[in-house]
Amino acid sequence: MNIHQTLPIYENKKDILYLLEKYSTLIIIGTTGCGKTTQIPKYLWESGWADGGRQIVCTQPRRISTVSVATRVADEMNQSVGKTVGYSVRFDEQIDDNLTRIKYTTDGMLLREMMLDPLLLRYSVIMVDEAHERSLNTDMLFGLLKKIQKARFLKKSENSRIDELKLIISSATLQVEQLQKYFQNSYILTIGKGQRIYPVDIMYLEEPCINYLDKCYHTVIDIQNSQPPGDILVFLTGKEEIDTLIERLDNFFSTQKSKISVVLLALYSQMSMEKQLKVFQQTNPSMTRKVIVSTNVAETSLTIDGIVYVVDCGFIKIKSYSPLEAMESLVVVPVSQSSANQRSGRAGRNRPGKCYRLYTEDSFSKLDHNLIPEISRSNLTPLILQLKNMGIDNILNFDFLTLPPTNNLASALETLYKLGAIDDNGKLTETGGILSEFPLDPQLSKVLLTSQRFHCTFECLIIVSMLSLQSNLYDIQSHSHRKDVLIRQGDHLTLLNIFQQFQQSNYSKSWCKSRQINYKSMTMALKIKNQLQAYLKKFSIPIQSIQDTDEKDLTIPIRKCIVAGFFNNIVRLQSDGTYKSIGNPLLDNLYIHPISVLSLQNSSPFLLYNEILYTTKRFIKDLIVIEPEWLIK
Ligand code: ADP
Ligand code: MG
Repeated sequence: MNIHQTLPIYENKKDILYLLEKYSTLIIIGTTGCGKTTQIPKYLWESGWADGGRQIVCTQPRRISTVSVATRVADEMNQSVGKTVGYSVRFDEQIDDNLTRIKYTTDGMLLREMMLDPLLLRYSVIMVDEAHERSLNTDMLFGLLKKIQKARFLKKSENSRIDELKLIISSATLQVEQLQKYFQNSYILTIGKGQRIYPVDIMYLEEPCINYLDKCYHTVIDIQNSQPPGDILVFLTGKEEIDTLIERLDNFFSTQKSKISVVLLALYSQMSMEKQLKVFQQTNPSMTRKVIVSTNVAETSLTIDGIVYVVDCGFIKIKSYSPLEAMESLVVVPVSQSSANQRSGRAGRNRPGKCYRLYTEDSFSKLDHNLIPEISRSNLTPLILQLKNMGIDNILNFDFLTLPPTNNLASALETLYKLGAIDDNGKLTETGGILSEFPLDPQLSKVLLTSQRFHCTFECLIIVSMLSLQSNLYDIQSHSHRKDVLIRQGDHLTLLNIFQQFQQSNYSKSWCKSRQINYKSMTMALKIKNQLQAYLKKFSIPIQSIQDTDEKDLTIPIRKCIVAGFFNNIVRLQSDGTYKSIGNPLLDNLYIHPISVLSLQNSSPFLLYNEILYTTKRFIKDLIVIEPEWLIK
């Protein structure tokens, strides 16, 4: 028997295919690991849903699982990824237009595709995976796919070449009644009803702990010293914490001698594919114990077999948006009960397991049942711009599964208006049309668009690419090794300089290393730049360099372009040495982050920032010195 035939979902294969013929939308509930993501698209492909040049697409909320799952499915079919099975994520794609029949993509990328192909006619079935997460893009997909489904149904009667769009929505949790009401002619199928789930012993702390990272460290050591073989999965909130814990555990275990050795593995979004795949490698449990320290991605998106112990720190890092501050930030908040239960469930997949919750039972009982959907705590500017580009002008009438707060909608409309993306009547302008097509935040796209007028597209392209990096650029915070690349007028110009010197070094790894600059991030920036260059070409924006003009201060036009995109982010120096927002009185007491070049020496009255970080204080980073006159425009 084929190994995939042992997965619980295999028993429902016939039901899935039958129900999909009968209903327009199929809502599938199944526990993590039952085979939803890897098997359903294959079943559809086998039974002809991708015949006649059509495709099947499955969306994921994250890059990391998109790439990982596509690679896995290709592997199951004994192919390399990019043939029958492909993936498409921002700035990276493995798709063969002629061969690819099953496509994994992020929900954000599918939204972008709608701009080119509003009815998504190439797809016969769209599977929206991980629906329980209610990511911003997933929610937006729901609204748009519902519209497309209706439109294709109506067109079908006029044009026999257009077929109905089938939707599969899959979720690891049970709260789907709302979805069933939302999608007409839908059906709920629960996978693996008779499936054996092993019991998981849940352990709580007697007393709340002060430092969960410390507690994680001791819990992992206790498990290794006192518990039988079995891998450990630790949930933390982000990369920095994960790296810290792994380093501490490594220091500890490298001095210990024990029968079972420990292999420490990290799992988070910004890591390379090869490192990621290590967590899936089989080991002999009587010889080694894997300790996987992961972000939320291991909660439901990636299934790792062999986990017997779960350590749950009880927190999650999420996006939070404050319309008053017009700012999105990442904050660490307690998990929901539903998340905590998903996490503990990872321990009981193959045999009975144990879950160590690093909080008290009382705290658990006070947790929210579910997290608020992301759409209610996000900056809606890019989303509304996309909707406008699709001709949906009355945003308040759009059929959202959950209507976002009106404050957030209003502040997004205001930003779009200031960017020149919409006019007095709220209609998309020509500028807006271009902005919405760039795979960037509209404010960053605006910088690029403005650069044409100031003849510095070459420079702005590099700066925007560097600002789009999602991983850390610097290996260490201190600038002591980087003195030769710093530009005193600000971080953006420093980023430009770093990139240009990196190019001049012939993309040298050692050039990066000696300056404690992350080489991988630099190659990523190069990749992003090449992609954006293609978009500039598409809109016939020439890539002129400011060096070729007779400007006296070459940095002024560049800085003006940045102001054109980020006019909301201007701060003014106060008498106490901190900064205060000029547009937003609530945003004050801002300190320059030590990672900014301006932390070395600065007394500029006006600065522009690209990011605010809340840690011990309110810090601003990615800073540039500006002149207030530039704002009057
Ligand atoms: P679901 O989407 O229902 O959570 P998946 O389809 O992702 O489940 O996974 C089904 C099974 O395939 C898992 O139980 C796991 O055993 C296996 N699997 C998935 N991805 C990988 C991988 N990259 N490497 C090894 N095994 C994997
Ligand atoms: Mg899955």
